[in-house]
Amino acid sequence: MRFVHDTLPQRVAFGSGAAAANLSNEITALGATRVMLIASRNEMHLADTVAKDVPVVHRHDEVVMHVPAEVAARARRAAVQHSVSALVSVGGGSTTGLAKAVAMTTGLPIIAVPTTYAGSEATPVWGLTEGAKKITGIDKNVLPKAIIYDAVLTMSLPVTMSVASGLNALAHCVDSLWGPNADPINAAFAAEGIRSLAAGLPKVVADPMDLDGREHALYAAYLSAAAFASAGSGLHHKICHVLGGKYNLPHAQTHATVLPYVLAFNGPAAPDAERRIATAFEGTAFAAGGALDGLVALKRELNAPRALADYGFTEDAIEEAAEAILPSVPPSNPRPVTAEDLRVLLRAAWSGADPRTTF
Ligand code: NAD
Repeated sequence: MRFVHDTLPQRVAFGSGAAAANLSNEITALGATRVMLIASRNEMHLADTVAKDVPVVHRHDEVVMHVPAEVAARARRAAVQHSVSALVSVGGGSTTGLAKAVAMTTGLPIIAVPTTYAGSEATPVWGLTEGAKKITGIDKNVLPKAIIYDAVLTMSLPVTMSVASGLNALAHCVDSLWGPNADPINAAFAAEGIRSLAAGLPKVVADPMDLDGREHALYAAYLSAAAFASAGSGLHHKICHVLGGKYNLPHAQTHATVLPYVLAFNGPAAPDAERRIATAFEGTAFAAGGALDGLVALKRELNAPRALADYGFTEDAIEEAAEAILPSVPPSNPRPVTAEDLRVLLRAAWSGADPRTTF
């Protein structure tokens, strides 16, 4: 066994109902006396409860998906104007993303309080949109210093969004099994992430207030993102990055839809990954058959997003999208990828065809 693994320095405080106390501890540990609280308008009431014991000097609620450059610029100006010493983000990936944009230019530390399963809080990856172009990069300064996980804050996340977001986390796990820097540590995290999602998400669907289900999903969100941050973007993320950026498709739903087709394509050439995924489903209701059967069964149980056509992707864009994705396919992908492979994959994902008969 030979590998080099980058472990990212973050503290993780996990506890249902403990977000306010944990946040207060982290802010004290940082010695921060002027906090900028970032949350979207809809989640600001949650953020106010979480930040009740910290010295907030500015509440910033202009949060927009994919962080448009002008939105980032206004948040950066606000941080400087209020002489902020720490950023606290409470929300999904879009909110964490805005905090990262501010940290990028100001060097301010972030404490992230995630309320979805997107996982941005555990990666050093930032994203900004300029015009219609989404740009991303890696900067260790944008990695939150600490993450506060509190499943109670996710109770209000609607079931459809919880499912899509949970499958976004599952996509981090699966892609990290064959990402450019895949290693056995990422694989261990990914396998535990898949197991925990398969255990938790059906409970969330059955009862959105099921705390145990929510905790399993949130714990998995961390594992999945930590694995992904280390392994790097594999074929699945390269495909979804183009689809999201070029066609403005919703992030989590796009990942949830595309994942089984990538698994159908790569799986036969990645037997170790397949075995790990199938093993992770053991002990759940999705164990019969292999990795792809398990994923298909889980998606059916969750009534998960099925077809890109439902999210605004059109058949006539398949050709162009395939050409746009091809140059970004990682050379380390377990099997070579042609434009025709991508057309077949995208057509199946567009229509919601059975991934088990796509390739
Ligand atoms: P999001 O943050 O846009 O949230 C989706 C919706 O859910 C929003 O309407 C939000 O208001 C709502 N919401 C969030 N938490 C809620 C709660 N607890 N209760 C009720 N409603 C709630 O979506 P997302 O999927 O979390 O994040 C997507 C964004 O994150 C994309 O821009 C994506 O590129 C980015 N992302 C980045 C990374 C990274 O490593 N940099 C990783 C994953 C995602």
